[in-house]
Amino acid sequence: MNREATKKIRIGDITIGGGSPIAIQSMTNTRTEDVEATAAQILALEKAGCEIIRCAVPTMEAAEALAEIKKKIHIPLVADIHFDHRLAIAAIENGADKIRINPGNIGDAGRVQAVVDKAKEYKVAIRVGVNSGSLEKALVEKYGGVTAEGLVKSAMDKVHLIEEMGYDNLVVSIKSSDVMMCVEAHRRIAEVCPYPLHVGITEAGTLLAGNIKSSVGLGLILNQGIGDTIRVSLTGDPVEEIKSAKLILKTLGLRKGGIEVVSCPTCGRTKIDLIGLANQVEQMAADIPLDIKVAVMGCVVNGPGEAKEADIGIAGGIGEGLLIKKGQVVKKVKEEQLLETLRQELLSWNE
Ligand code: SF4
Repeated sequence: MNREATKKIRIGDITIGGGSPIAIQSMTNTRTEDVEATAAQILALEKAGCEIIRCAVPTMEAAEALAEIKKKIHIPLVADIHFDHRLAIAAIENGADKIRINPGNIGDAGRVQAVVDKAKEYKVAIRVGVNSGSLEKALVEKYGGVTAEGLVKSAMDKVHLIEEMGYDNLVVSIKSSDVMMCVEAHRRIAEVCPYPLHVGITEAGTLLAGNIKSSVGLGLILNQGIGDTIRVSLTGDPVEEIKSAKLILKTLGLRKGGIEVVSCPTCGRTKIDLIGLANQVEQMAADIPLDIKVAVMGCVVNGPGEAKEADIGIAGGIGEGLLIKKGQVVKKVKEEQLLETLRQELLSWNE
């Protein structure tokens, strides 16, 4: 089902599905029991643009900490639970806006029913998640290994189980670290699942590998009109996940806003520290609320021409550089003043 046609599900004050903007989420990597550290990380993630946050709830102390964490943050909080249905119930009672469970590892039907009843009482959405690493043996045997078909069957079995228990406030996720299997599984599940899909590539890897796998996987899935909320999984600071997720959505034309910094790859003509300068520009521009393109070019020979499609740009020379607007050179400035000159231009952009 195309994202326009999925059911709308509320998570705190955010709606996903039914054509709502694709929400960016991440997961804390602090101990959830440590309220101060977890809340501080969530506030940093909020600042970076995170819209929904998930915390692992491995203990009763963590479930109870959710109530305190919620008082300190401003975005919906999702509790991630494995194995123990009592933790899911406690997380809901302590204010979780959504819970993520794998009904396959939460216990017998009675325990799943107890969680569903509590979610219903508090009107809290349940994300039903299946993962290629924990696909049921029977499905592995039936489909001759871990396959996209098997993942979809596993997810839909769990969806039907919860529907039969009288609840349809659901979000579904199927994850695989095999990117192309993940893409195929999403294509298939979108045909049969009316609920919003949480999309992510699991165990994607460190910064480089994780970003590439997530960009390719999410790009192929989202570009088919599939996916309602995303998480980029990286082994690193979760703030990096948010930056990557925003860039993926912007690149696909699924989100507007923010300064896009483009920079040349540098070559034998480059006479300034362009790599350092491009990074500084990216950092400086991150907090300026403009929807424009800024070019950072390495030389005054090709720079102005190549920066033509940008709204504003700088091009480095020897000890000095050019300020360019819409491909026209408007000013010559000393190299050490390039960054500040650009910053002033951006700050007074709308004047
Ligand atoms: S803009 Fe200049 S320095 Fe950068 S790649 Fe092009 S020719 Fe080389």
